[in-house]
Amino acid sequence: MTTSTAARVYNFSAGPAVLPEPVLEQIQDEMMALPGVGSSVLEISHRSKDFEEILDDAVARIKAVMNVPDSHEVLFIQGGGALQNIMIPANFITEPSGVADYIITGAWGKKSAGEVKHYGKLNVAYDGGSTKYNHLPKQSDLKLTPDAAYVHLTTNETIHGIQFPQLPDTGGVPIVADKSSDIMCGPINVSDFGLIYACAQKNAGIAGATIVIVRKDLLERSGDRLASYLDYKKHAQAGSRFNTPSTFPIYVTGLVCKWLQDQGGVEKMESQNKMKSQILYDIIDSSDGFYTGHVLDKAERSVMNVVFKLGSDELDAKFVTDAKSAGLTTLKGHRSLGGIRASVYNAMPVAGVEALAAFMKNFASKNG
Ligand SMILES: *Cc1c(COP(=O)(O)O)cnc(C)c1O
Repeated sequence: MTTSTAARVYNFSAGPAVLPEPVLEQIQDEMMALPGVGSSVLEISHRSKDFEEILDDAVARIKAVMNVPDSHEVLFIQGGGALQNIMIPANFITEPSGVADYIITGAWGKKSAGEVKHYGKLNVAYDGGSTKYNHLPKQSDLKLTPDAAYVHLTTNETIHGIQFPQLPDTGGVPIVADKSSDIMCGPINVSDFGLIYACAQKNAGIAGATIVIVRKDLLERSGDRLASYLDYKKHAQAGSRFNTPSTFPIYVTGLVCKWLQDQGGVEKMESQNKMKSQILYDIIDSSDGFYTGHVLDKAERSVMNVVFKLGSDELDAKFVTDAKSAGLTTLKGHRSLGGIRASVYNAMPVAGVEALAAFMKNFASKNG
């Protein structure tokens, strides 16, 4: 039941991105008054019992969905991925001579690495920029520092559509992962990570909330040298209410996690995400070169962001325009790479992917 007068399209935006319709409906239902509260979530104190329940529920659901062990804390912080790029070196590099390793497999990792210099020494363990990040490093390509403070990587590079099928071996150095665009896309072993962060606006909610999952022993690293907002420990001690948290985005993340649980959890998401992305990759692979995928190795292609191009910029542009007329929107690739990007996050229904697949076949036969 939707009361909106405008029709919904299939929205392939990379982020902020499509949300599950039941989540939007519940938000709409509860916008005038939350059951038992009588005000909307937008209007209540972040210190109130009612909001505390919403926050606790969202954290509990993240823990349940991702099977977070007791060794790790779940935090909500504002400031997006950009602030995490600063908080991570600030907390974990404890002296200016300290080194952090960055495995750069796309534009987001590059951006993350750019902030290390404010706190310590950056070691670029790998940078695939010279081949436009079209493949991942082999273990032997990594120039890791044995006593690095941590190794940072981006498990799914949203712009280049490249995703680690498994984690590299960092020899016991904690892995810090930007999972902004593939959090909850499938099961992971949280204990493999020192810290996971994800701005919520791709797969786990809306802009304004960032999920941080951090190993509790690492919270002690920063000591008391940091400005308070930058200190993970302060956020943990305050139960994610160090200051006014992003109440509405946290509420939405709770609803998205509930929806995920209702769907059968991340195991179900994984098989569905593989199936959805494969539908598109199959069309690319069988198009006789009409469509070319960006990532070379099939095993490294993202299940979240399908990146490809056509034979010319003009044809790319026509594809985007014609798709839009067919109700398939936001398919233009990132400005740094051009081409096409179809983001097929958890909330993108199979029917949306099938509609795009049919459009792609038709477009290829008309313009090939
Ligand atoms: C979208 C995205 C971000 C966004 O960071 P913000 O600072 O929240 O805009 C960061 N990392 C990755 C991998 C992303 O996909």
